[in-house]
Amino acid sequence: MGCASSSTAADPKAASAPATESTTSAATRNPGDDGYPEYWYHNKTADQTANAGGFDDMFYAPDSEHHCFQEMIEESYVPKTTQDRPCPKGTCGKKPGGCPCNQPGGDPGLPVSFHVQRVIRVESSELWDRYQKKKRSIIEARPGGVEAFDPPVKTNNKACEYTGTFAPLDASVNEVYAFHGTQVRFALSIAENAFRIDLAGSSTGTLYGRGAYLGESISKADEYAKDEPGGYYDGVFAVLVCRVVMGKLNSTSFDSKAAEKVKAGQFDSTCGTRVFRELVIYDADQCYPEYVVLYKRKYAKDPEEEVSKTRKRRFFMQVPLHWRNVATDLAAGFREEIELPGPGTSWMQCLVNQAQLQPSRTLVSAIRLEDSQLWQRYVQFKAALRSRIADQSEDHLRLNFVEKDLRALMKRPCKFFRTPRGCKSGDKCRFSHNEFGADLDDLSLAAGRRLPVDELDRRLHEGFLWYPCTEAEAIDISQGNVKKDETLPGTRFYESLQTALKRTTGKDGVKVAVLCRVMCGLPGVDVTDDDTDFMIIETDESGRREVLVKDGSGVYPEYRLTLHSSEDEETEKMIDSMDKVPTGAECASTMMLSKRAPNPFTETHATIFYNILQDTVVYYNVRKYSTMYSALRLPRSWHGAWSAQSHGLRQGRSSSGYR
Ligand SMILES: [Zn+2]
Ligand SMILES: [Zn+2]
Repeated sequence: MGCASSSTAADPKAASAPATESTTSAATRNPGDDGYPEYWYHNKTADQTANAGGFDDMFYAPDSEHHCFQEMIEESYVPKTTQDRPCPKGTCGKKPGGCPCNQPGGDPGLPVSFHVQRVIRVESSELWDRYQKKKRSIIEARPGGVEAFDPPVKTNNKACEYTGTFAPLDASVNEVYAFHGTQVRFALSIAENAFRIDLAGSSTGTLYGRGAYLGESISKADEYAKDEPGGYYDGVFAVLVCRVVMGKLNSTSFDSKAAEKVKAGQFDSTCGTRVFRELVIYDADQCYPEYVVLYKRKYAKDPEEEVSKTRKRRFFMQVPLHWRNVATDLAAGFREEIELPGPGTSWMQCLVNQAQLQPSRTLVSAIRLEDSQLWQRYVQFKAALRSRIADQSEDHLRLNFVEKDLRALMKRPCKFFRTPRGCKSGDKCRFSHNEFGADLDDLSLAAGRRLPVDELDRRLHEGFLWYPCTEAEAIDISQGNVKKDETLPGTRFYESLQTALKRTTGKDGVKVAVLCRVMCGLPGVDVTDDDTDFMIIETDESGRREVLVKDGSGVYPEYRLTLHSSEDEETEKMIDSMDKVPTGAECASTMMLSKRAPNPFTETHATIFYNILQDTVVYYNVRKYSTMYSALRLPRSWHGAWSAQSHGLRQGRSSSGYR
């Protein structure tokens, strides 16, 4: 089989001509076979990757690729059932040909179609390398090629058509895409750990021996797919779309010795030929689970509108896809603090540089928190908020500066930006012109892509925001204790990391910034109003805002970054060494003076205040000198202008009381 060339594909006679034994030789094989598929985020060669320590990631495939899977599923659909499809009512036992409830036209009948909700791509260097190794050994063991599938497998046309989603297949060893239906969490676990052949068949029967069973038809795979009644994945089924290297086929409708024959080297796999063709392998390395496709079933009685409605809504996993615990049920409970490995850390360092627009802080550590209880609280808050504000959120403030910082580092660096002639595309360039991102290697870039910026719900003003704190406070917030501000009824979050870090006290130059997901809710001018969930306190010159969020349940403290700044350390030392606490009046008068003007203080004091004026010192540090602090509060210009007006919000009387 393999892909027909475009000239023959247009001719139906040529396309349906009987397949002959493949004559593809090793010399003409796709040269990219040993590398990773070009459309992967990790698309370098195995050597480059091995040096960097490998990768193991899952990404949502772009929505624009969903149709490739939808079409592949539709083309493989066969309106037939077997006894392996469980009775939906649980009343009929197993009987040959399947139960009447599952027959086309029955009640509820066979699903008439399947609708793709989400596609996850699995990029694992270890699984891929093992798969390629196994494939090479089959190629070597079958130098004359092998007898091809006749007719070609049902997924073949679409795999050939969409090479930007399905990497070229090696027809000389019957490499194909095939389906394996299962439950969402099992699918994720297979994607992470490969098939467990020793467990296979325990619940689904082993007509062809213990192995991994795949189908060329979605109708067969769907017989084994399960949803999670009453759970998060209620009504959502999973099918793995795997690359399988079948090699020499043992085509048979029943063979109790099939597994032994493959082990003895007589064949490489079994092709079961009953109602459906089943593809069975006995070595997990012969299969690469490249995609997890989540889908819904449609029965004849289901109204069309319902299907199109669920199609429009984007579906997300119960916990973020990049979490180590993605397959675990929240009810099972977990709490892990995971230190990001090298690539993740260098990406975060870039984010810090980008957010500050200067490389002045060193990332000491970056930790991701995976906590089932906190996540549950966050998700419940989100659901409640969604039903409360429904569509009444009209003020789209787009709290997305942090998101912009994140996105700026997700694109590949532009090759021309740094050359003397520059990039002709300017702002329209689809590659990154970010000066910090330019130094990221591929593994680090891919690490950044795992950040789920696409999952945020703008209507709820959900966004990533910075929460500055001390190391002790960081532990507090990671336990879910979101501390309220000392003077305001809520917690402050920041779009600007730079501003955020000024609002906390450091120790030995170390401060913590927690990158939180925050469900801000409805904006207003006074959070003591019942219908206001958050308000903007300040906006800086670049438009980045400081917000006050009322309810800490809508906060998930996902990444904890510990940062060191030698400048801060110096400043701390200077303040500690001050021998005299100036009075408020003295401070106020100092602030009116420029650095060089004569003043009642020592040069050291003048420098500090000059720095304060230049907005480079952490003013909370100065709060221990309460008189100085009150002096500093006086000029409104220093704090930045109250900005709600500029965002089209009603300027309330109560709000102007703050600050
Ligand atoms: Zn039945
Ligand atoms: Zn460019």
